[in-house]
Amino acid sequence: MLTRSVTVRAPAKVNVQLAVGGRRPDGFHELANVYMAVSAYDDITVSPSDRLTVTVSGPGAEGVPADETNLAAQAAALLAKHAGIEPAVHIRIEKHLPVAGGMAGGSADAAGALIACDALWGLESDRDHLMSVAAALGSDVPFGLMGGTALGVGRGELLTPLACAGTFHWVFAVAGFGLSTPEVYRAYERHRRQMGSPFTAADIPAPRPSPALLEALARGDHSALAASLSNDLEPVVTAFRPELARTLAAGRAAGALAALLCGTGATTAFLARDEPAAAHLARRLLASGSCASVLAAHGPVTGPRPI
Ligand code: ATP
Repeated sequence: MLTRSVTVRAPAKVNVQLAVGGRRPDGFHELANVYMAVSAYDDITVSPSDRLTVTVSGPGAEGVPADETNLAAQAAALLAKHAGIEPAVHIRIEKHLPVAGGMAGGSADAAGALIACDALWGLESDRDHLMSVAAALGSDVPFGLMGGTALGVGRGELLTPLACAGTFHWVFAVAGFGLSTPEVYRAYERHRRQMGSPFTAADIPAPRPSPALLEALARGDHSALAASLSNDLEPVVTAFRPELARTLAAGRAAGALAALLCGTGATTAFLARDEPAAAHLARRLLASGSCASVLAAHGPVTGPRPI
């Protein structure tokens, strides 16, 4: 029987560590990125069409391109190109993840589109092939495909899965605005120049994951994880968007075990002891008026799955 459509649910990520090294000659920064996939999702549905088209709906649809520049469309086009076929598919994205929020929503959509198109077209691509297509699409797309918990080095795309015991509960405060990833890295570099600090990869040792953080994940130890969360971009981002410093403070005051900026922002992440504590924290954060909306989620979760 001909498959009429495939829907894949693709998770967001939080960086429990984002250590930034120097800028490489190709313009990317060396990173030690510890990723955790969390249970906040976009749904990507693909169905046969005479040409590649995209529609975006849902609470986060505004600000997402509904044309061939959409990351999910780019994923479909690149997969089709490798397979020597036309990307004759309609992609429907049900957008729940914050846009330009540092939770890799676009990368999640791209990873979801790869899995969905591969199934729709019956390609049965092996994992390594999908991973190499993902890496060509963006630094966060390989992890979008992998899910779970992983260390990403290079520009974040060279992945090693990490041991993680149990489940961690999070609340995400969605800002009323997005932040551009390249702009945040430019601000980080400007800051280093102003401080007289080195900023090229040739002059800075490659960043490394925190041993305490890796141990906290492996043991499933919430308090130890709370003590070792870190994001090198947070001081720079909160300096030019002080309202995010206020959101972080509001979450701490509302009982979060720890608070940090999600990736390049503008979403902020708060660790809670358990699910009821996360629900309580989400209510208090929303009531504080320091964010536009909240998402409660747990992690790690698996990568994109057909539903
Ligand atoms: P990261 O955490 O990987 O830095 P992000 O979460 O900050 O990413 P995204 O939401 O992935 O940012 O999107 C960044 C930009 O990419 C958006 O401003 C939007 O214009 C563009 N974009 C293209 N395709 C998508 C998509 N499917 N979903 C969201 N944004 C997309």
